[in-house]
Amino acid sequence: MPTFDYAPAPESRSIVDIQPSYGLFIGGEMVDPIDGTRFKTVNPATEEVLSEVVAAGPQDVDRAVDAARAAYDGAWSRLSGRDRGKYLYRLARLVQERSRELAVLESIDNGKPIRESRDVDVPLVAAHFFYYAGWADKLDYAGFGPGPQPLGVAAQVIPWNFPLLMLAWKIAPALACGNTLVLKPAETTPLTALAFADICRQADLPPGVVNIITGAGDTGRTLVEHPGVDKVAFTGSTEVGRQIARSVAGTRKKVTLELGGKAANVVFDDAPLDQAIEGIVNGIFFNQGHVCCAGSRLLVQESVADELLAGLKRRLTTLRLGDPLDKNTDIGAINSAEQLDKIRMLSEVGETEGAERWSPPCELPVRGFWFPPTVFTGVSQSHRIAREEIFGPVLSVLTFRTPSEAVEKANNTPYGLSAGVWTEKGSRILWMAQKLRAGVVWANTFNRFDPTSPFGGYKESGYGREGGRHGLGAYLDV
Ligand code: NDP
Repeated sequence: MPTFDYAPAPESRSIVDIQPSYGLFIGGEMVDPIDGTRFKTVNPATEEVLSEVVAAGPQDVDRAVDAARAAYDGAWSRLSGRDRGKYLYRLARLVQERSRELAVLESIDNGKPIRESRDVDVPLVAAHFFYYAGWADKLDYAGFGPGPQPLGVAAQVIPWNFPLLMLAWKIAPALACGNTLVLKPAETTPLTALAFADICRQADLPPGVVNIITGAGDTGRTLVEHPGVDKVAFTGSTEVGRQIARSVAGTRKKVTLELGGKAANVVFDDAPLDQAIEGIVNGIFFNQGHVCCAGSRLLVQESVADELLAGLKRRLTTLRLGDPLDKNTDIGAINSAEQLDKIRMLSEVGETEGAERWSPPCELPVRGFWFPPTVFTGVSQSHRIAREEIFGPVLSVLTFRTPSEAVEKANNTPYGLSAGVWTEKGSRILWMAQKLRAGVVWANTFNRFDPTSPFGGYKESGYGREGGRHGLGAYLDV
């Protein structure tokens, strides 16, 4: 139990102005749908209806792609890199100026703690725009040969776990390279993307360069299959990623897919255990575990397993679950009823298959979608909770005896997005980093993001890289 209780410290939501309904952001203005319908978006922490948004239909998608094409053929593709950079700097500064509003809105729409949206998501969004603003006039020196050309119109489909951050990962490099785009946010988290549409207007971005259309999976499918797009960028589940790969096969479209993960967080017996415990907590309980690169499989060396688990359980009893807008909250709401069902189902399967389930004593709010931080011990590699992405605050613990056993178990997954290594030995970190089949390997830290660093997966975690210089290649004809 926590040693003392914190008084509530709720962030005011008066800074956000949520409209009762929204249109689609096409050609630089909010327009009513042609053939789209409307649906309600809710606050997952309270189930309160926040607003009504459009599920864009095929004609709406046509209109958005046409607007992006017209903007590409118009001024945008002929603008100098330096001038594109100015727009990106302007977007970055506006994100900073409106950061408090964006953080509160993100927490209301997504359910994530304000501490994370305020201190992680929104600062990283601004950092991405600043970083790619800097590249816009230096593409000749990025290692792709002289005068690399943009691709044209990009179709970008993003998930609900980091709505605004995934938007920045997609939009910033696309614009820096001279493309125009149509972006579809996830069905359950459209509001910060619509706020970003307003930022585009405020920045005087030429009409049609950024178009934002809301909707569900059907809208996403119509967009990525549209013959008028030259590039598809998707982040989401491996299953939808596979469908997209199939639908674009044989077309001229260039594709990047950033899909699921089942990362191993490997703790050796010489690791500083208190720090490792913080890294494990950050690895799987950050953002309620709705993180593609979450450290959802803890591999701990057998000789320190008991000590580490006792410390981890002690630490988990101090986590505060509840109102996402309370500045003391560590664990917010699960993003949707569907996702909660999936987490519950896989956790029940974990028990049925024989793993031992543990959660700290923790009171769940009555309304909204909630799941307590959960640890499974006695997990074997064949268990579904060791193989499938749960995408929730659920940790599966396995043990190992030797470094090579750790590598074998860590790599025994269809995914390969990220991994973590905790040890005092630098040579062991380098050895592990070479052996682990994962796009990112963190050493003595976890879930650390930086716009200068490329990110992406092996195997079923997708292909292509986002972030850093590598991220430019995804939006250039190279
Ligand atoms: P999806 O992959 O379905 O959603 C990602 C995005 O793609 C959303 O904008 C979605 O729209 C859209 N989409 C859905 N179907 C299609 C399609 N056929 N063509 C084009 N776009 C489409 O993820 P879910 O939200 O359904 O989550 C399911 C599971 O996926 C989670 O439980 C989790 O395990 C995993 N996941 C992994 C993520 C990652 O980053 N690795 C991110 C999100 C989910 P809409 O929101 O309307 O469905």
